[in-house]
Amino acid sequence: MQIALPDPVKKVIGILEEHGYEAYAVGGCVRDSIMGVTPHDWDVTTSALPQEVKSCFDRTFDTGIEHGTVTVRMYGQSFEVTTYRVDGDYEDGRHPNDVTFTASLEEDLKRRDFTINAMAYSDRGGLVDLFGGADDIASRVIRCVGDPRERFSEDALRMLRALRFSAQLDFEIDPRTLDAIRELSPTLEKISAERITAEMVRLITSDHPERIETVYDTGLTAVFFPEWDEMMATPQHHHHHCYDVGHHTIEVMKHVSADRVMRLTAMLHDVAKPICRKTDPQGEDHFVGHPQLGADMARDILRRFKMDNATIDHVCTLVRHHDERPTPTRRNIRRLMSRVGAEHMPGLIELKIADVLGQSGYKREEKLAELSEIRRLYEEILAEGECVKISDLAVTGKDVIAAGVPRGPEIGRLLKRLLDMVIEDPTQNDREILLARIDEWK
Ligand code: ATP
Ligand code: MG
Repeated sequence: MQIALPDPVKKVIGILEEHGYEAYAVGGCVRDSIMGVTPHDWDVTTSALPQEVKSCFDRTFDTGIEHGTVTVRMYGQSFEVTTYRVDGDYEDGRHPNDVTFTASLEEDLKRRDFTINAMAYSDRGGLVDLFGGADDIASRVIRCVGDPRERFSEDALRMLRALRFSAQLDFEIDPRTLDAIRELSPTLEKISAERITAEMVRLITSDHPERIETVYDTGLTAVFFPEWDEMMATPQHHHHHCYDVGHHTIEVMKHVSADRVMRLTAMLHDVAKPICRKTDPQGEDHFVGHPQLGADMARDILRRFKMDNATIDHVCTLVRHHDERPTPTRRNIRRLMSRVGAEHMPGLIELKIADVLGQSGYKREEKLAELSEIRRLYEEILAEGECVKISDLAVTGKDVIAAGVPRGPEIGRLLKRLLDMVIEDPTQNDREILLARIDEWK
């Protein structure tokens, strides 16, 4: 097996070897190369101690030196070079008590999570595959290095990593590894929200967000996202629907682009349905108020997940408005753009199309035709520069002040009233007309 190492990686490995050390590309880059995928970064593992690594190169940074990682600059690119290490005992299921350097590549590979991530390669040493990683790639399997129960007891995050890799690579999880996840899923509770979120975001933005179902089946969502378990347990008896809330949500996630905000929005758009569900005497379910309550719940959940505020605001806006169904007229769409914010329209339309595709086939063609009409009108309004927000008005707050309105909330109220008028009739967005209105209304 030959892997085409990029020149700077060859150079980093070559320099370490010239100084008498061993060095290999390791982990994700070897896995991706064997799969025929271009690696997004190249990590190097070496027998050299961190100080020795630093003395071999002109430009280095102490990125994670206490864990043995030095960043090396080579030909304008950065590479993480990490000393062979073994993790000490894990007492808390999250951090090794200490990290010990070792002279043995085998020891270093043994501490890695999955066989497919535990291979090393150099031109001199060839492929070092001690645990059958290449075979597992060929049979598309995620399997722990060593005893899965032990490995998950050391670091419970590995359970979620197994599912994340299975979603990114479309691999199955080896039955013994899967059994261990089922057994130990409650121990994910020891892991910080930040680490869980990082893996979940990679899972749901992969080509196979439907693997979130295995996160649920194994008992992991129950630990950090119990709202999801409620969704999986909530039926939707209604002619528009053919799935329970959870499976409908999975379909919607599959039908939006693999963008972080869009996948999070799809995941959370119906999160309040379990709470809002009311069954009528005919046996049909209704979910009145779920978009508004859902936006509030989404905010709490994303805060708990330690998401950044910009993402939270964006997702919550889309969740809040996802169920609005204006009749497609130019005026209604201007109103919608003003309510939601024009910048959110592409995401909202994308979400609504995916929402329809996750429902029963009932009236599907009509629903989709209406959404493409909404998109057409939105684009027309944009192209013609019609006013949908206060900053689009032909007058500003200064004009209102100049007309003699004292500074204060009245200015905003007047501008909003002008905006409402202009949204109803765009021909009114004319400076003379608006100044006359200000005089009249002040
Ligand atoms: P990606 O392409 O997504 O970055 P990756 O395999 O590089 O995939 P990383 O999370 O960057 O994944 O980790 C780099 C390597 O470090 C892994 O391939 C694995 O060998 C090892 N590793 C990372 N996290 C753990 C962990 N929690 N337990 C054991 N080994 C781990
Ligand atoms: Mg990586």
